[in-house]
Amino acid sequence: MQRIRSAQLYEEAQQHIVGGVNSPSRSFKAVGGGAPVFMKKGQGARFWDVDDNQYIDYLAAFGPIITGHAHPKITEAIVRAAHDGTLYGTATEHEIRLAEQLKAAIPSMDKVRFVNSGTEAVMTTIRVARAFTGRNKIIKFAGCYHGHADLVLVAAGSGPSTLGIPDSAGIPPSIASEVITVPFNELDGLRLALERWGDQVAAVMVEPIVGNFGMVMPKPGFLEALCKMTREAGALVIYDEVISAFRFHYGSSQTFSAFPDQDAIRPDLTALGKIIGGGLPIGAYGGRADLMAMIAPLGPAYQAGTMAGNPASVLAGLACLEVLREPGVYTRMEAMATRLCEGLQASADKHGIPLTINRIVGAFSTHFCDHPVTNYEEAQGSDGEQFAHFFRLMLDRGIYLAPSKYEAWFLTTAHTDADIEETVAAADASFQEMAAG
Ligand code: PMP
Repeated sequence: MQRIRSAQLYEEAQQHIVGGVNSPSRSFKAVGGGAPVFMKKGQGARFWDVDDNQYIDYLAAFGPIITGHAHPKITEAIVRAAHDGTLYGTATEHEIRLAEQLKAAIPSMDKVRFVNSGTEAVMTTIRVARAFTGRNKIIKFAGCYHGHADLVLVAAGSGPSTLGIPDSAGIPPSIASEVITVPFNELDGLRLALERWGDQVAAVMVEPIVGNFGMVMPKPGFLEALCKMTREAGALVIYDEVISAFRFHYGSSQTFSAFPDQDAIRPDLTALGKIIGGGLPIGAYGGRADLMAMIAPLGPAYQAGTMAGNPASVLAGLACLEVLREPGVYTRMEAMATRLCEGLQASADKHGIPLTINRIVGAFSTHFCDHPVTNYEEAQGSDGEQFAHFFRLMLDRGIYLAPSKYEAWFLTTAHTDADIEETVAAADASFQEMAAG
């Protein structure tokens, strides 16, 4: 497959845009480098690059595009918003409607505030927690990504509980020292951290279902114990559901059937993003009314946004949720993902390629290893070179995966059985080539 124009545009982009990309996860650095693919059009489950190559899309823009590209209902909503003016800097009725729908689907959110990205949503939940508790420290889990705000860009330590080390230059050690990172799916680290610093901890932040070191379910009882231990320490529970909300069912992890005792896993605050904007920029956070009352104009904690709750994003989000309420939507995505995973696993087994697949409804991750992946360390232990090789072989067969061994494959309402068959065939040919060396 030729990608001459992409290569040319990459050369040009690098002269103007740092690294040629506006988000590092779009670069191909983690899969051997070189020019990333420049796309020009998406329709349904497919998109086309600037060289007119066609791909089946499992990236779904890192999660938001759950209804496929250019879904007619979302397109119509965006066009309507454009005709009526895209931004007023005033309140609108649309914002109330989206807030109502989020609250109905995620009952722990008494009050909601819209922002422009998942990063902002997470960042503000931390501010609320700190303002409310008067404490500064945050506990997070190794490998969980919560956007690029200073506080949550702190690396995983490999021990049971390590004080934060900045994962990025430009983060003062004083900020990193307010973050404690502990392993996911294991309670000892959290227990130790809370024993040692509990009275200084404002919140424990977690992706209740992880999407950032593959798709990883919490072990039975993990979230329940996390909530209990956190509350006993007088700290708040923050769920980062930027990926997980509306991904597995119409609702979030908090209301997912996998967790029988929903009262026991109810968070105090929740951060949202991605799907709720239907492919336009959005974020939202919400939670208990008394906590949310900390935010201006009601309370002393400040958060604002020129673009926050803009009509285009909100109307696109409303349209997206409407599509997701159609009966059978999630069952169909799950059925397709199941077939796809079965096909991938059978083919990898046949060719002697170790492959662990973690699937949750219509999203899954592929790890080139022969052990289960339940935490970051195990995800790190998968073979990145093999993933990179697989990624390239699939790309050349017109299958677009996220360019990182840690990212998920996302099914959309637009994928078809034919897409699944084509993908399994491409994977089989790719595994065969890998096995041949
Ligand atoms: N939280 C989670 C769980 C995420 O996956 C992401 C983005 N991948 C973010 C927060 C940050 O969202 P955004 O990129 O919209 O700032």
